[in-house]
Amino acid sequence: MSQVEGTNHTYNEEACYEVAVVGGGAAGTSAAVFTARGGLRTVLVDDGQSGVQRAMLHNHIPYADGIAGPDFYRLSLQQAVKAGAAVEQGKVVSLNRQGQDDGGWVLQLEDGRRLEAQAVILCTGKALDLAKALGLELAAGRERRYPDVIKVDSDGRTSLPGIWAAGAVAGVTPHTIAVAGDGARVAINLVSEKKGQRWVDHDVLPAMAHS
Ligand SMILES: Cc1cc2nc3c(=O)[nH]c(=O)nc-3n(C[C@H](O)[C@H](O)[C@H](O)COP(=O)(O)OP(=O)(O)OC[C@H]3O[C@@H](n4cnc5c(N)ncnc54)[C@H](O)[C@@H]3O)c2cc1C
Repeated sequence: MSQVEGTNHTYNEEACYEVAVVGGGAAGTSAAVFTARGGLRTVLVDDGQSGVQRAMLHNHIPYADGIAGPDFYRLSLQQAVKAGAAVEQGKVVSLNRQGQDDGGWVLQLEDGRRLEAQAVILCTGKALDLAKALGLELAAGRERRYPDVIKVDSDGRTSLPGIWAAGAVAGVTPHTIAVAGDGARVAINLVSEKKGQRWVDHDVLPAMAHS
């Protein structure tokens, strides 16, 4: 798997993240942008298999002339880095609770790296292996290629505290604009829960700041 330009990150074994996003398609990159901009120490782990890399997108505003999937994937990961997220390329092979019930989560990567995070957002597209290994409740999916999805509440919480899910794996229609919106929505709910109040990420044009 080649490193995506602009996402080089030095693995820090000591880092304890507040959020780990598993999956770097449109849902995961969008979620990571919002949690990082919400001030939460965020790591995104992706194994580079998103179908978006084979897509030619003509239905994602504001790309009126379309955008090639590989460009969309690269720019999305770069935006997550710009927002402050660390990006690790690799496959998460297991997720285990650390210590007692509220002790956060340990993510084991295929190559031996280990990450710790207080909360996890699963944005794994078609892949349900982690969800099944965790014993998460599943639900019947409505979309053709997604017969089973992770059952989530209206905020994106799964049946296990501290584990959230967004995008196609959580039953959202598999279109980049829809799953990106869902990643953002679930991330905002997670940030709001952490802050104890609703959080809004709005910036204002400098010229309008004092009007
Ligand atoms: C050929 C093709 C054409 C498409 N064309 C369009 C189109 O024109 N318009 C449109 O809107 N959508 C299109 N799509 C759909 C779109 O690309 C996305 O697949 C869809 O929106 C789902 O996004 P997602 O982020 O939920 O999941 P995905 O895009 O599937 O991303 C999930 C990511 O998680 C990673 N992952 C899974 N498990 C792990 C793990 N254990 N550790 C680390 N990483 C993991 C996967 O490898 C992947 O990179 C197309 C898809 C395909 C395949």
